[in-house]
Amino acid sequence: MTDRSTGHDRVVAVIGGGISGLAAARVLAGLAPVSEQLSNGGDNSVARRTRVVVLEAGHRLGGKVASGELAGQPVELGPDQFLRRDPSAERLCRHLGLGDDLVAPAASTAAVWSRGKMRGLPRGLVLGVPTDLDAVEQGGIVSAEGVNRARLDGELDGPVLDAFDVGLGEPPADGPVEERSAGEILRARLGDETVDRLVDPLLGGINAGGVDTMSLGTAAPQIAQALIGHRDVIAPLAATLPAASGSAAPSSPFYGLRGGLSRLIDACCEELAGAGVEIRTSSPVNTIRSSGTGWLLETGQAALAVDGIVLAVPGYAGSELTKDCVPDLAGTLGEIAYASVAVVTLAFRTEALSLPSRWTGVLVPRIEGRLMTAATWLSVKWPWMSGEETSYVRVSAGRFGDARIDDLGDEELAARLTSELSEIAGIDAGPFACKVTRYERSFPQYQPGHRSRVAAMAKALYAKPGLALAGAVLGGIGIPACITSGEVAANRLTCDLGR
Ligand SMILES: Cc1cc2nc3c(=O)[nH]c(=O)nc-3n(C[C@H](O)[C@H](O)[C@H](O)COP(=O)(O)OP(=O)(O)OC[C@H]3O[C@@H](n4cnc5c(N)ncnc54)[C@H](O)[C@@H]3O)c2cc1C
Repeated sequence: MTDRSTGHDRVVAVIGGGISGLAAARVLAGLAPVSEQLSNGGDNSVARRTRVVVLEAGHRLGGKVASGELAGQPVELGPDQFLRRDPSAERLCRHLGLGDDLVAPAASTAAVWSRGKMRGLPRGLVLGVPTDLDAVEQGGIVSAEGVNRARLDGELDGPVLDAFDVGLGEPPADGPVEERSAGEILRARLGDETVDRLVDPLLGGINAGGVDTMSLGTAAPQIAQALIGHRDVIAPLAATLPAASGSAAPSSPFYGLRGGLSRLIDACCEELAGAGVEIRTSSPVNTIRSSGTGWLLETGQAALAVDGIVLAVPGYAGSELTKDCVPDLAGTLGEIAYASVAVVTLAFRTEALSLPSRWTGVLVPRIEGRLMTAATWLSVKWPWMSGEETSYVRVSAGRFGDARIDDLGDEELAARLTSELSEIAGIDAGPFACKVTRYERSFPQYQPGHRSRVAAMAKALYAKPGLALAGAVLGGIGIPACITSGEVAANRLTCDLGR
């Protein structure tokens, strides 16, 4: 589709200006390399002939990535860190000139509120799954009886797990069998208490979900992989850990960005604008229709005819958009459940606040029945988020299966969480400023069968060249996984449209 007004050979749209969509736009604009097999030796003349338009419904870019201000200081209101194991986010920050502002958290471990007090996480956990039960017993998060139950892991009989059992393989050919949830697998081996008090707050907490409604293979592939061919959990998982390496402190697996992760979004946008990418905010796409070899987008303003689309929106939004043009895709996207969360950021006078600063914050297990799911001592974890006189704490609430936040107004929510924070962390001082940020339907739930759903979406897309899917909906909640998903989707679209 030649766009005579701009002299471009083709037009592609990225729907959704979160980190996934921006990462896709960078590849489409020739700012990031396409994959090896598509590479034409560094010639990005094709990208130069492509008009790239980013359409974002909100008034700002970044989606869930949202830094803001409270009491005159910059604070993170959404994500505050990313994993370094997948290098894509760190690489992008460095590429955009933000390398000097990458910072590791100043404290590295959290506590769990369990059995009446805050207790530090024991060593040897992999997303909450223990590999050292002596350390778990010493830590006290799980009672002695609970630890003794977990010690039976190596002795109990049970099925040898295969790839399908742990959510990493194809379903057996001889009939549909439900994938077992992470909770089902782990409870059978470790007992309920260890799962409820240790595994669920960490593994479940990452997705604002719970292990009983989670696919182990999608949410924690490294754990799932370790269990294949075994009955038990602890020994095979322990075997995957690197041997302790003397006295050197391990470097943090996380990075944050001084000044806030929104700086990454701003830098991406600046680079995209410099490359001629059109970025339109307050431009929700209402409908996608097939049109000849391309697509027609209704945006509420003018319709936009495009040759290709990267769809980088939450599953339910993608389902709505594709229900007429790719109903199979829409059906599967619509099956993916989401959890809503709320984040209450509190500003305290530093002199009045005493925090247990050996921890970054505290996780609160679901079985405690509290509204609060976690608290982060922002000013301890990230010294850049503290003024001389002001310190910040953030309290989170809401998870899959617990929608109590929906029934509370902002003021009541903040009051309830401040009161729980005081009971749990012994913070007697009252905050002098507070900001409530709600993220409705923000955390996709990777439920058992997610892998099959992703395969079904890939099949639906295969039959519809010129449409690619990116974002957390595919199975990686973290910022690095989202960046990778955007880059992969853009590669796929480039391939579809023919170089
Ligand atoms: C409170 C919170 C804390 C988190 N903490 C961390 C963390 O510490 N580390 C980490 O790695 N990850 C964290 N995450 C997860 C991570 O932030 C998200 O998974 C990631 O940012 C999602 O990016 P995305 O681009 O796929 O989706 P989104 O950020 O949701 O972006 C999608 C965009 O699409 C737009 N859109 C929707 N419908 C339309 C439409 N019809 N037309 C046009 N635009 C549309 C939306 O407005 C949105 O801007 C956190 C998430 C939350 C909510």
